[in-house]
Amino acid sequence: MPHKKTLGLYKGLPKPYTSILIQMRSQRIGLRHFLFKIATTQQRAEGATDRCHCDEGSQTPMHVLLQCPLYTALRATMLNKVWYKTDLGRTTDYDTIISDSQAIRYVAEFMHRTGLLGQFRQVDYEDVDASINTPE
Ligand SMILES: [Zn+2]
Repeated sequence: MPHKKTLGLYKGLPKPYTSILIQMRSQRIGLRHFLFKIATTQQRAEGATDRCHCDEGSQTPMHVLLQCPLYTALRATMLNKVWYKTDLGRTTDYDTIISDSQAIRYVAEFMHRTGLLGQFRQVDYEDVDASINTPE
């Protein structure tokens, strides 16, 4: 949930990056884990799945950023920037990386470069909000 500290975190970032980061934190993002959650019965019957293309797990933001074998090269570039251009050092801790004001631009850049989020642009955000308004 965004509060003052979180909003300050995104200061100076390009708007699309801020949007990606907010989506990652809320888990409401164009990745299969979330898209499956909001899928209709028909979409599920037609084979919608939360599994990643790599078939090694659910396609969550954490899986894509740190675990998915399909993005090894992109991840190396991202971690290299996080490790050497921020004060975090050689961390691979998800919460640490996505909460650091210096590291998050590289996180957003990585997510953007995976090309995975395109699908979500077609989704009507109001509908999404309405459909997940009920707590799990
Ligand atoms: Zn994967």
